[in-house]
Amino acid sequence: MATISPLLQRSSEVRAVRGDGVYLFDADDRRYLDFTAGIGVTSTGHCHPRVVEAIQRQAAQLIHGQYTTVLHPRLGELTTRLGALTPAGLDCFFYASAGTEAIEAALRLARQASGRPNVIVFHGSFHGRTIGSLSMTSSRVGLRAGLQPLMAGAVVSPFPDAFRYGWDDDTTVSFCLAELDFVFDTLSAPRETAAMFLEPVLGEGGYVPVPPAFAAGLRERCDRHGILLVADEIQTGIGRTGKFWGHEHLGVVPDVLVTAKGLASGMPLSAFAASEELMSQGWPGSQGGTYGGNAVACAAALATLDVIEDEQLVERAAELGPRLIGGLRGLATEHSAIGDVRGLGLMVATVFTGDLGAPDADTARRVQVAAERAGLLLLTCGTAGNVVRWIPPLVVTAEQIDDALDMFALALQKADVR
Ligand code: PLP
Repeated sequence: MATISPLLQRSSEVRAVRGDGVYLFDADDRRYLDFTAGIGVTSTGHCHPRVVEAIQRQAAQLIHGQYTTVLHPRLGELTTRLGALTPAGLDCFFYASAGTEAIEAALRLARQASGRPNVIVFHGSFHGRTIGSLSMTSSRVGLRAGLQPLMAGAVVSPFPDAFRYGWDDDTTVSFCLAELDFVFDTLSAPRETAAMFLEPVLGEGGYVPVPPAFAAGLRERCDRHGILLVADEIQTGIGRTGKFWGHEHLGVVPDVLVTAKGLASGMPLSAFAASEELMSQGWPGSQGGTYGGNAVACAAALATLDVIEDEQLVERAAELGPRLIGGLRGLATEHSAIGDVRGLGLMVATVFTGDLGAPDADTARRVQVAAERAGLLLLTCGTAGNVVRWIPPLVVTAEQIDDALDMFALALQKADVR
C-alpha cells in the first residue's frame, strides 16, 4: 500500500477536512481552534470568502502564466501593491513559491551583486530547508543532521537571546555585537561578507524578538562595510507582529526584504524586494522557477492584502497581542514551569523550563497534546523544543483568544504542569 513518508513528522492527530476562519474541522465535524494558522500562513483565516472568490475567479481565467515565458496581469498588480507596502526604495520584486526559494534567491543576489562569498547569520535562525538556506539555519541540529557539510560561507554569530543567556537586554546586545566584531576579525572579514540575514523575531528558534539596539548595531556595521542587511520576514511579515513588517519594530530599514507565509492566505507564494539598482547587479537570468509568481497565488495575495487592509488586521494583531500575552503571563504566575512569555503582536511564545531554568521540551509537548484534546491546536518551536508558540489567524477575536486561554489553562491542569 502506498504511504506518506514517515519522515514527515506531524504535531497533531487531527485529520482536517474543512477550515473556516480560526477553526479546523475533522471528518466527524469536531471543531479545533487553530492557533497554528498553518505555521503562520492563514492570517485571513481558513477560506476567507474574498480569498476563495479571488482564487476561483482567477482559476477560471488563467491558472499558470509561467513568468519567464509570459507576463500575467496579477503579477504586475501585486508588484504595484507590494511596492506601496515595502520601505521606500525596496520596490523591485522577485517571486517564487516557497520561503526557502526566496531566501536562496536573496542569497544568490547578495553574492552576485557584492562579489563577496560569505553571509553572516544568527544562532538559532531558521531560513529554510534547501541546501543554501539550510546552511544558514541553526534552529535545530536535526535539520542539518546527515547532510553536513553544507554550503560553505555561512558564518554563525550569536543571537541576542537575553533569556537564554540569563542577562538583561543591554548586556546581551553588547556581548552579541562584540562577538559579531570578533567574527569579522576571525572568520569572515567585512570585505568578504556579502550580507547579514536577520529574522526580526527569531521564529523556529523560539520566538525571540530582536532588541532594537542589536538591529541598530547591525545596520551601522552593514553601512560601514558595504554589507547588505537582509530581513527574513517570512514569518514576521504581513501584519503578524502588529506592524505590517516586523523590522518596523526595530527602527532600521533592511536592504532586502523577504516575505512568504501570510502573503497569500495559504497559496504558495514568496517574494523578495530590493532596490532596482541592487537587483540589476545580479546575473541576468539567474532568478527564475517554473511556478514562481503563480497567477492564482498572486490573485490570492491581492485579495489577502485587501482583507488585511479592510478588516484592519495589522491593528488587530497589535491590539490583541497584549491580551494574549497578559492572559499567558497570568497563567505563568500559577505555573512555575512557564519560565517566560514573550512575543510581538500575534507571534507569542510560552517557554517551558525546569530546574535552574533548563529547557523542558517534554512538558511543552505534553501541554501541546493536552491542548489538542481540549480542542486547541498549538505548535512548539525553540532550539530545544521547549517553546509553545501562539500564531492564530489575524482575524481572531478577543473572545476566541479568551477561549484559547481557557483551553490552555485546562491543558496545563490535565498535563499536571507545576
Ligand atoms: N524563513 C523563516 C523565518 C521561516 O519561518 C520559514 C518557514 O518556517 C522559512 C524561511 C522557510 O519557508 P518555507 O518553509 O516556505 O520554505
